[in-house]
Amino acid sequence: MRCSKPVAAALTVLALASTLGCQPVARAEGRMRQIYETPDGRIRIVGRAELGTGEAEAIAGRVQAAYDWVARTQAWPDAAPLSAPLQVTVAETPGVLGVAMKDRFKVGLAYLRSDPVLSAGTLAHELTHIQDRREVRPSGVPGFIAEGRGLTDGFMYRRSLGYPPQPYDRSLARAIAGYTAADAAAVLDDLSPGDLADPAANRRLEFIGAWFVEFLRTRCGGAGFVDVQPRLARVITEMRGGADFGAAFKDVFGLDWDATRTAFVAEARQTRGAERLKGTIWQGLAEAPHSKTP
Ligand SMILES: [Zn+2]
Repeated sequence: MRCSKPVAAALTVLALASTLGCQPVARAEGRMRQIYETPDGRIRIVGRAELGTGEAEAIAGRVQAAYDWVARTQAWPDAAPLSAPLQVTVAETPGVLGVAMKDRFKVGLAYLRSDPVLSAGTLAHELTHIQDRREVRPSGVPGFIAEGRGLTDGFMYRRSLGYPPQPYDRSLARAIAGYTAADAAAVLDDLSPGDLADPAANRRLEFIGAWFVEFLRTRCGGAGFVDVQPRLARVITEMRGGADFGAAFKDVFGLDWDATRTAFVAEARQTRGAERLKGTIWQGLAEAPHSKTP
């Protein structure tokens, strides 16, 4: 295990820098202040003068809907840590779409405005991290597990809203289709919260993490575990109680961690391309889109 730097936040630096970078981002003006709070006090929206009350209320509604979806998907056994007020800072961080901490996260206003489809997924992604971090403090969840949960939740939340797969999803699917057994082993051998200093390594960690979550759901142990997300939530709850990742994994999935790692690396060695994605949420996305014109 590599030594991890103390990292206060889980960053979502999606391979979408151009999505944000190409947008004309208005110069932020004024101090940060609370713009809106939901009547039940669960969600507070913080921003600058450029964000009006009406838009802040609409953003709070989007956050609430994503949070409710994540809570249902994860089926957390203990909701108590999740009831604390959540602060959402809506402001730009160049190159970063979302940043999650324990009880607050940050998301870009220009991103929310310009890309309602992908940013919906980012909300679900970050809220998945929020729940993990509220359970295990400081975060001891392996980085590939945390990001794998976040990415698959983000994608599935977008799909639940009826949004079609995006170019980002095709890029992720093609990357997963091409990873080697050495890539898979390198990611699963590192149980640290992740190394965010190297964007390329971070991208591999996120994408292979997502693939691993889908491997658990569809193939691991033969038929896989359809309830993979609630099970991983229980793994994290057990880690809150002091269990290490491998022990918690064995308790919840009934599988030896080292054997599971070996099975995943074998999957990476034996499969490739479209075959690898069969049955996963990215099936068919690695190929070039078909033209509808003859
Ligand atoms: Zn993330």
